[in-house]
Amino acid sequence: MYSDVKIKIPKNARRSVVILLISIALVAITGLFITSLSYFRSIEIEEAKNRLSLYGRSLNSTLEQYQYLPAVLARYPIVISAHSTASNKLLNKQLAHFSKEAELEAIYIMDRNGLVLASSNYDTSRSFVGQNYGFRPYFTNSMLGKRGEFFGIGATTGRPGYFISEPIYDDMGHITSVVAIKLDVRELQKAWEESNERVFVSNKDGVIVLSSNPTWLYQTLSKLSDKQLADIRTKKQFGDKPLSTFSWQRFGQSTVSIAGEKSIYVSAPAKRLDWRIHYLLSERRIFERATLTTFIFGGALSALLAFATFLRSTRIRAALRASQADRSQLRATNTELKNAQKELARSSKLAALGQLSASVTHELGQPISAMRNYLAAAELGGEMQLGKTWEKLNKVVDRMENITKQLRFFTKPGDEKLAIVSFQDVFADVLTLVEHDIRAANIKLETNITSSPVLVYGNRLRLEQVLVNLIKNALAAMEGTKDAVLSVVIQEEANRAVIKVKDTGIGFGDRKLAQLQEPFHTTRASGDGMGLGLSISAAIIKEHDGELIATNLKNGGAQFSVSLPLSNNSE
Ligand code: ADP
Repeated sequence: MYSDVKIKIPKNARRSVVILLISIALVAITGLFITSLSYFRSIEIEEAKNRLSLYGRSLNSTLEQYQYLPAVLARYPIVISAHSTASNKLLNKQLAHFSKEAELEAIYIMDRNGLVLASSNYDTSRSFVGQNYGFRPYFTNSMLGKRGEFFGIGATTGRPGYFISEPIYDDMGHITSVVAIKLDVRELQKAWEESNERVFVSNKDGVIVLSSNPTWLYQTLSKLSDKQLADIRTKKQFGDKPLSTFSWQRFGQSTVSIAGEKSIYVSAPAKRLDWRIHYLLSERRIFERATLTTFIFGGALSALLAFATFLRSTRIRAALRASQADRSQLRATNTELKNAQKELARSSKLAALGQLSASVTHELGQPISAMRNYLAAAELGGEMQLGKTWEKLNKVVDRMENITKQLRFFTKPGDEKLAIVSFQDVFADVLTLVEHDIRAANIKLETNITSSPVLVYGNRLRLEQVLVNLIKNALAAMEGTKDAVLSVVIQEEANRAVIKVKDTGIGFGDRKLAQLQEPFHTTRASGDGMGLGLSISAAIIKEHDGELIATNLKNGGAQFSVSLPLSNNSE
């Protein structure tokens, strides 16, 4: 009725669950990656802005530190009189001194045409003295009474620099000359080159004037117009630099690609010269961080999921084991119940049979013995001709007596007294009952009976009933066989009292004992057997706490072995 139930999930369903789980995991990991990309991107943009403002401050402070100097120099008497002095030897020396102190590349004074009258580098091979810078916008600006400011590559030195100039006035308020300073920006440029970061500055035309990458210098962020180019040439701002276009691509507001590498891009205006400072930060770090985060979180998530799945499957397995244990317990109980039910049915059948047998033997006993008496009297009195009818009648009465004898066997003896009985005594009594049948059937009896009494505690008549039945069955099984031998063994075995009844009959084939002892199970002809002997014997053996074992013997025949608990005399 019950069988081991394995919870089976259809293959398709299992596959769909796995696919669903994998898809969820993929979506979660992709989501995590995208989120961390955008998170780290915003962090990197902030970082880039911070770096940009740091570089901006250093650029501004570099450019602003000497803003006041030309204005101060323009009020210096020796500078004011430079345009009217025949020799500026002393001025040259003084300017050289100032320039050295202020760490400037040059301080120089020009007349109204732009001719340099005195210069701090007067004694070097690249002296400005005698040079004319009238074409420089800072000069023209100052000649208009304004402060001049300019960045360009030095026309004499070829070095880039930041120029600031102021007009010099005479007492009448006329511009007599112009004082200019040149700040060497190479130090700043060098510092940026060494920084390992990517930062550059563009002027108002978009020409890169400072850059951490020197190869980018003097490239233009966008193509210059002819007018712009002509203007630059006139000012000789970048000497003969080709001013090629900077090769970069912009994506949106904060992404650029340079030589195939994408970077975060931020820029801000510088304080002077309409310059703009630009800062680039490689996106590689964003990808690395996002990948690492996805890896760590994804790994942790997978581990957590795996652990949860493991816990869940352990719980399910435990529950399954418990339910399987319950099931087998239930099965065992069910079998026990069924056996008990069968046993109950058998005992009630037997009890009913006992009662029936008792009343039938009682009711029929009288008329049968009366019939036998009549027949005997008729024979004696010669009332009846002894012939076939008399013979037939006698046989009928024999048969009826035989049936009542059998029925009596099933009747429970009234005497249910229990006592210590020896198997030897039981067998001796039984032998007197069956001896005649054994002899009549020409069967050899072999006994192997231990000399010391094998004692059990039980009902002697009931035990005799069992033994008679077993022997009668053995005789029946040997009917019509040659060299039939019945052997009876009585002994103690493993602390039990044992009687074995062996025969050389036909055996009981592949039937089980349970089947043999079913009430009314018989292979014998009607009238010879009712199929109740083994059933009653088994019930009696059980009452005595004993065991019945049936074995087919190798050389044919069967053995029925009864084992009961041993009893000692003291009990
Ligand atoms: P009955 O003897 O009236 O048939 P039993 O309950 O005593 O009823 O036996 C049931 C059946 O068991 C027999 O009909 C027979 O087929 C089988 N059986 C019993 N004892 C033996 C035996 N010694 N050898 C072979 N078969 C046997």
